[in-house]
Amino acid sequence: MKISKNNGIPEIFHSLQGEGKSIGRPSIFIRTSLCNLHCIWCDTDYTWNWKNTNFKHKSDSKEGYSKFSKENQIIELDTSEIVSIVLGFNCNSIVLTGGEPLIQQFGLVKVMQVLREKSMDYHFEVETNGTIMPTREADALIDQYNVSPKLKNSCITESLRIKPEPLGFFSKSPKANFKFVVSDKGDIEEILALMTTHGIDPNSIYLMSEGTSMDELSEKNNWLVEICKTYNFHFTNRLHVFIWGSKRGI
Ligand code: SF4
Repeated sequence: MKISKNNGIPEIFHSLQGEGKSIGRPSIFIRTSLCNLHCIWCDTDYTWNWKNTNFKHKSDSKEGYSKFSKENQIIELDTSEIVSIVLGFNCNSIVLTGGEPLIQQFGLVKVMQVLREKSMDYHFEVETNGTIMPTREADALIDQYNVSPKLKNSCITESLRIKPEPLGFFSKSPKANFKFVVSDKGDIEEILALMTTHGIDPNSIYLMSEGTSMDELSEKNNWLVEICKTYNFHFTNRLHVFIWGSKRGI
């Protein structure tokens, strides 16, 4: 599998879930590389924003920012190597994240199968952009889907970011919750329209401010909590930004 590589080592690490329904839960993160989208504000752009591509990113104008070299950011690991790293941590909550982890769901199924054979206590949470259908085998093993459909604020064409079939599947799954990244107060109209069109249960919706610094998040959080109160949506912060800033792999 193609796993994100940070300073030469695989980005598989023990931390706290920083966002959404399981915020604060100690978890092992397996960060897969590659994504089928290229959101302009993506905070894991080292999984897809390769040199010699022309995707735009909000950091493009920042001094010192440059696209990533694929060979420096990807490490190939087989099932046994991934399992062995996971077994080195004392934790049974696993977050499969990316990039977009469902691109590599065949590999992830093997990892989940081997871990479940070792212990039925493993809990598998998948963080997905909601554009790819899980296979029946993957669905049977996954306990929780954190689905984050992208809005216009991602600057991705609608036909790429909104896929009715997988969205319909997730909206019917009792294992799914939906997390929307909100940049602007006006984003709420789009969220309400998606909720209606795709039959998303409002009780499963979490709203989170877009931002990678405490200042940026704090400013948006002030008005986002009021929107959550108005529509009875859950609010979620980005815990890891408040604790670790934008550091990777912790
Ligand atoms: S879907 Fe997620 S990982 Fe992919 S580009 Fe968008 S924010 Fe980044």
